[in-house]
Amino acid sequence: MPFDPQLQQAISAHMQFLRDLGIYDFYRRDAPELADDNADLGLVAIVPTAQEPVIPPRKPVPPQPNVGSFIAPEGRAEALRAIRYEIGDCTRCALSRGRNKIVFGDGDPNARLMFVGEGPGADEDAQGLPFVGRAGQLLNNMIAATGLKREQVYIANIVKCRPPQNRVPEPEEANTCSPFLFQQIDVVRPEVIVALGSTAATYLLGVKSSLSGLRGRIHACRGTKLVVTYHPAYLLRDPTQKKQAWQDLRLAMAELGLTVPSR
Ligand code: URA
Repeated sequence: MPFDPQLQQAISAHMQFLRDLGIYDFYRRDAPELADDNADLGLVAIVPTAQEPVIPPRKPVPPQPNVGSFIAPEGRAEALRAIRYEIGDCTRCALSRGRNKIVFGDGDPNARLMFVGEGPGADEDAQGLPFVGRAGQLLNNMIAATGLKREQVYIANIVKCRPPQNRVPEPEEANTCSPFLFQQIDVVRPEVIVALGSTAATYLLGVKSSLSGLRGRIHACRGTKLVVTYHPAYLLRDPTQKKQAWQDLRLAMAELGLTVPSR
């Protein structure tokens, strides 16, 4: 039996509202045993009433593209070059206007461990490489403490161009750029991704949540395990959190089956 058009409109509006909150999966329940005329619709009362406050939708994080097909290890360097070629001299978002160099990513195309930051800073913008400034020095030290070398991991960012004054990327900028990062992740297929800070966590996980609520457990991102930790720039400002960050790295390393010294 067709839905009443008004009811259908109300349901569509409610589903859009849920999507705006980052909820994309819906299922339909079996028809409840209702005694009234709506029994055959199989619906629960989700139609907002006029008295309910209007909640402005949060900026949506769009659903991620499907995971790309498997690339054999020997083809990954070339596949990454193809992504870089596709990016070209990008002007897809406003960040392109202020950048010097596109910071694509760096490291082993077959890395088991990948780090994702927020976006390039001044040093990265000048050199075209991720994490080469002060925060990068700290990241290098963190990687070295795990017993790995920087060249053994892969490092990239949510956006590839420096935001002005190092501000947080706007959702439109992050959503325009991150599909290229997702392609890089799909090519490298790391076993564990470490999201550095809340911008990386938000766009990799597709949900906005506090860092404290995300740390300390294993998440999933594009078929890969993901651990959330503090951004090195934050650790430079508050070194007392380094101990917590080290715990996060130990969690990541344990997932790789690699033990690291306790500190
Ligand atoms: N901060 C980031 O998030 N990424 C970099 O590449 C450098 C600093």
